[in-house]
Amino acid sequence: MKIETKCLHEGYHPKNTEPRVVPIVQSTTYVYDSTNDVAAVFDDPTKGLIYSRFENPTVMAVEDKIAALEGGAAAMCTSSGQAASLCSILNICKAGDSFVSTGTIYGGTINLFAVTLKRLGIECIFVDADAPEEELMKAVKDNTKAVFGETLANPALAVLDIEKLARVAHKNNIPLIIDNTFPTPILCRPIEFGADIVVHSTSKYMDGHAVQIGGVIVDAGNFDWANGKFPEFTEPDESYHGTVYTKAYGKMAYIIKARMQLMRDFGCYPAANSAFLLNLGLETLAVRMKQYCENAMIVAKYLEASDKVESVNYPGLESNKYHKLAKKYLPNGTSGVISFVIKGGRNTAVKFMDNLKLASNVVHVADIRTCVLHPASSTHRQLTDEQLVAAGINGGMIRFSVGLENVEDILDDIKQAFDKIN
Ligand SMILES: *Cc1c(COP(=O)(O)O)cnc(C)c1O
Repeated sequence: MKIETKCLHEGYHPKNTEPRVVPIVQSTTYVYDSTNDVAAVFDDPTKGLIYSRFENPTVMAVEDKIAALEGGAAAMCTSSGQAASLCSILNICKAGDSFVSTGTIYGGTINLFAVTLKRLGIECIFVDADAPEEELMKAVKDNTKAVFGETLANPALAVLDIEKLARVAHKNNIPLIIDNTFPTPILCRPIEFGADIVVHSTSKYMDGHAVQIGGVIVDAGNFDWANGKFPEFTEPDESYHGTVYTKAYGKMAYIIKARMQLMRDFGCYPAANSAFLLNLGLETLAVRMKQYCENAMIVAKYLEASDKVESVNYPGLESNKYHKLAKKYLPNGTSGVISFVIKGGRNTAVKFMDNLKLASNVVHVADIRTCVLHPASSTHRQLTDEQLVAAGINGGMIRFSVGLENVEDILDDIKQAFDKIN
């Protein structure tokens, strides 16, 4: 099946007289004919369902769909993108371990890695994603268990050289984890470039309609967890009646371990109702991504030509620093998110945004409706103008998430707001 078809048909295959649409299984629990049957699913959780804190048929249909879209062996949904990033690391690292991450990643992930994981005794070594391979190799230490990066960074819109990071990870016998939230598997499938694990915030384009918060972890099923560096995969898990994950589950080892250890203990599993809504978004994902990219390219070109604008950051533009990498990794478009710096700084940016009529001011991105965010007065509010400059954020910078309205209406909205800042 081609990817458009997978969006509609993977994950749920109804039989004779069963519902056409994936049903919402609103049940915390499942019944068994006998105690023996209960024992059997505890022995092998792939044989049946146990409890909706870590598995549910509606959610699992979505997990199978996303695994198919990314070209992975298995997936596990989480209650947020943050929970997906957290579990992707905790399934591999314990106190005393470290991992390498590029610095240009989502701000929430930076907090998680630099502050919260540090408190748990896990060190994140931040590196410059654009540094040469030899330099990145030097960042890896004996206790380093993974490399993490973002395909198309939010909000920096830097395109990651996934193959370079995969080489660094694999030369050190550790996996590469990629946050693929902005491209979605429609625009990039990191596993095809060597990624071992892919995480998403499904709250963004995958849902697209701004109706649920969610995340997902997909495992390619390719990494050799039995290479000696990951004893928790190859030695009996005392918390799960001595299971040896690599032996019992092969290509499913990473996801089953995440489900039976982390999800069982943390309980950050999505509700069936959220998964149902996410599935509706996934069904139209391929058509929507094409249109976001088409609209955003037109808006980016308009902004680039405008005398009101100092600079535009959109990797689809030929003038962009990451255009060459974008052509390789995102040949069909670089999503609907643009950032640009308006002439006149912070005050002009605020005035422009307050005058927009169609585009809404929201702490969100990647919605079907055009939306804007002013990092200097929201996500990076605590910083002074000097600190903003040091962090690479201009007071005049606006993150513009192009939606699916007719692009002429989006342009008209920008034009009338530009007229009001004079
Ligand atoms: C939003 C986002 C997250 C966090 O996702 P939530 O669903 O909000 O928890 C992680 N990574 C990226 C790239 C994001 O844009």
